[in-house]
Amino acid sequence: MFKSIRYKLIILYFLLVFIAMLIVGVFITDQFEKYHLNIVKDNLTYTANNVVRTMIKDVDLIENKDDIQENLIKSTISLGYEISIIEGDSYNIIASTNLDFVDKNAMDVLEKSVILSSLNNRVTEKDIQSENTDSYRIKHMAFSYKEDQSDNLDYIIYGRASLDSVYRTLSNSTVILLRATVIALLVTIVLGYLMAGSITVPINQLTMKALKMAKGDFRQRVTVKSDDEIGQLGSMFNYLTEKLDTTLLEISSEKSKLNAIIKHMEDGLVAIDGKGQIIHYNPSFLSMLNLREKDLTDKSYDKIIDDYSKDLEYGAILQKSISNSSENIIFENNKKRILKASPALFRDEAGRISGAIVVFQDITESQRLEDMRREFVANVSHELKTPITTIKSYSETLLCGALEDKELSKNFVEVIENEADRMSSLVKDLLQLSHMDYEKVVWEMHHLDLREIVTDSVRKLEVHFQNKNQKLNMKISDEAVPIYADRGKIQQVIINLLTNAIKYTPENGNIRISAQVVDKNAIFQIQDSGIGIPKEDIKRIFERFYRVDKGRSRAQGGTGLGLSIAHNIIKQHKGSIKVSSELEKGSIFTVYFPVDNSVDIL
Ligand code: ADP
Repeated sequence: MFKSIRYKLIILYFLLVFIAMLIVGVFITDQFEKYHLNIVKDNLTYTANNVVRTMIKDVDLIENKDDIQENLIKSTISLGYEISIIEGDSYNIIASTNLDFVDKNAMDVLEKSVILSSLNNRVTEKDIQSENTDSYRIKHMAFSYKEDQSDNLDYIIYGRASLDSVYRTLSNSTVILLRATVIALLVTIVLGYLMAGSITVPINQLTMKALKMAKGDFRQRVTVKSDDEIGQLGSMFNYLTEKLDTTLLEISSEKSKLNAIIKHMEDGLVAIDGKGQIIHYNPSFLSMLNLREKDLTDKSYDKIIDDYSKDLEYGAILQKSISNSSENIIFENNKKRILKASPALFRDEAGRISGAIVVFQDITESQRLEDMRREFVANVSHELKTPITTIKSYSETLLCGALEDKELSKNFVEVIENEADRMSSLVKDLLQLSHMDYEKVVWEMHHLDLREIVTDSVRKLEVHFQNKNQKLNMKISDEAVPIYADRGKIQQVIINLLTNAIKYTPENGNIRISAQVVDKNAIFQIQDSGIGIPKEDIKRIFERFYRVDKGRSRAQGGTGLGLSIAHNIIKQHKGSIKVSSELEKGSIFTVYFPVDNSVDIL
């Protein structure tokens, strides 16, 4: 119970009031006593000096003894003090308001020490406890007088005053004071209880709310009823909870933002604690390493990563990072995807290493592009090297004397021209691809009829068909085949496909061409009875420089870029191309363009 601040405050108030009352009581009683004693003293002094002395000053004490006795009683009876007049030589009491003392020796009936002391000091006073137990103290005062110049003492006026009433009043006052103290203490307890309550009740409320906050409910607010320190504490509590609430909201929204980012990022991410246990991972990590969530339970990070690369073990990461040689680690997963892992350590506030984060990137595509780039450069160099070598050797032979032989030099120059043509068409094709890559081509789009472009292209290549005695079968729709396209480019596609069909179909072979609209598609198809393409090569024939049979292609004057250019042009027209082929039986190339419905061109 006394643990409560409320009771502590009450005890404190109680003690304070008690001490205050004690000090006040002691002070008042002391002052009160002094005041009343002074009054008695002053009255006795006045009576002696101004009443009795005046009465007996120049009077013979012995002779006028009876008159003095009579006058003394008359003049002092109302004062209530006992006054005695003592003759200076014999110390006999001449007159006294106490009739028992008259004619007695003062040294016997009055206080001897007071009388003797007055002889030296003129005035002496002494409070003496009465022998009578009922009574309090009695003030004794002795005034000695010498009325002439001689050293002889004339008389002593001795006064006694009971201090009974003074001490009685004092004792009454003490009782009153004690009662007041008790009442004050009782009032203190009640007021203290209420006042302490005004402090402890809000504090208790605050404690309860703080307890709820500790359990996670941050919407706690207190009602502020006053403007004092407690009120200010309440306002500050409300401000703090509000701040805490918004800060926590911000933190949790930041956290969920971060979680969403980590969850949806394409890169795989795994976090490991200082003991090598996985503490966080995202779905990309699972899919990249071909894992399921349950594969991670009860398994350390090392056990999982061991299947892929020992260099990624936690110990190895630590080692490399300590020796400042941390680098990306490239490895292949069990789905033949190439992954790049970038490990990094993280530290706690004291700077101690407390775990690591490893980010996994699928670099299969960029690796493939890099390979393609390397392959492309090698291909271009190779394609150019052959004609250049030929040109160089033929021109050298010519310079070394072959020029003299007219027939031979004509043949040589023809070879040089052919090789130059080949280089020129290679460079032309490369430039065209590069322009398309960098979107530098200006597409001259028009509303066209595909039938017209097909027949025109066939006409241009008619001689080639005839040279190889190939049978051409045209199946062109009677209806228009409208497309929105660049005429020159579409013609290039058709000529490329036709040229390939002629090139890769032996003499006397069959070539079928069709152009028609089927299901909102403008379709151009070319079918040959040629050498065909092996199944595994079909998906690669649109790659730059890819040829099924390099020797045959070169011999036919091909650059290995024709289908690649055609594919790019078709893509730019939002179309597609499909190939089906059977070795030694022939190939079918089908090109689909979206039908142009915007204008009725015929
Ligand atoms: P090329 O200049 O070598 O003909 P292309 O890009 O036009 O280059 O064709 C790529 C490769 O596709 C050719 O080398 C060839 O092997 C194959 N090819 C293309 N068309 C046909 C076809 N009609 N029949 C058989 N093979 C073909």
